[in-house]
Amino acid sequence: MNETAARRRPGPARVLTVERTERISPHLVRVHLGGDDFAAFLGAADPERIAMTDKYVKLLFAKPELALEPPYDLEELRQRLPLEDLPVRRTYTIRSIDAATGTFAIDFVVHGDEGIAGPWAAAAQPGDLLTFSGPGGQFAPSIDPHLPRLYFADESALPAVAAALEETPASAHGLVLIEVGSAADEIELRRPVGVEVRWLHRERPDGTVAPHGSLLVEAARALAAPEIVPEVFAHGERGAMQQLRRLLHNEWGIERRALSLSAYWAVGRAEDGFQAEKREPAGQIFPE
Ligand SMILES: Cc1cc2nc3c(=O)[nH]c(=O)nc-3n(C[C@H](O)[C@H](O)[C@H](O)COP(=O)(O)OP(=O)(O)OC[C@H]3O[C@@H](n4cnc5c(N)ncnc54)[C@H](O)[C@@H]3O)c2cc1C
Repeated sequence: MNETAARRRPGPARVLTVERTERISPHLVRVHLGGDDFAAFLGAADPERIAMTDKYVKLLFAKPELALEPPYDLEELRQRLPLEDLPVRRTYTIRSIDAATGTFAIDFVVHGDEGIAGPWAAAAQPGDLLTFSGPGGQFAPSIDPHLPRLYFADESALPAVAAALEETPASAHGLVLIEVGSAADEIELRRPVGVEVRWLHRERPDGTVAPHGSLLVEAARALAAPEIVPEVFAHGERGAMQQLRRLLHNEWGIERRALSLSAYWAVGRAEDGFQAEKREPAGQIFPE
């Protein structure tokens, strides 16, 4: 099996239980998940993926009114349910794994009443079940302390950046640009002292709100082209990531393979549509 196929193979569905939740900022809820399937998940996980700091799982949400029994057997359900009644997938980063307590944590952006995963997390209670498969993942920070870091994230990629910073060599240096709603959405990040974190706030003092991703692009464009090719990790809203690709790849000339750059979501698209559009030029970061 080639690397891409291995990365995409979802693995068996597992079920974990919500143990507790915490609001780590007005728009981020941390959900701690544990239970009998934790050991099976960890035991079967590809060690290479587990070592990635952007490791992610695919969550499966079924319509409550169908009262389907988790873990959902998608093959079987496809035989008997119309397309619109199949469980839907949502992709989330594993923020941290705690083998001692047999739990892992996911930080969910609470982005309003729209969608499935965000509202689910906002209302999650101990005992709730969550079906998922995975992990996938492709990025871990270099151990080279001399390699400059240049990371970009909005709230959706903040968990992955937070995890990466914790694994970055203590003597590393660089810059992290993070776009959030307001100062209240800033969270504590454990990071090397030489890595500067710059928070960008969409909510302006005059009460207006900048479009999602626009401040990341603006701040990136204000930077001088780096003399040494940095380690780049850039993830977030699709339109912003497409613009960052233009700057980092087309204008600065950083090779594609040196860029961890992808869209995590898109304004006005539920994840189902967003994923489907990856097959079309409008949905791609690097046009095929
Ligand atoms: C590899 C990967 C890792 C990810 N990790 C995380 C993570 O750790 N935490 C996290 O919160 N998200 C993460 N995401 C993004 C998450 O999968 C999407 O935001 C997803 O669309 C949320 O599903 P939903 O059911 O809440 O909303 P959907 O039903 O998909 O969308 C409903 C509406 O909400 C809007 N919307 C979706 N996400 C956001 C957002 N973040 N801010 C504002 N509006 C939004 C959509 O544009 C749409 O209009 C990750 C995505 C990928 C690909």
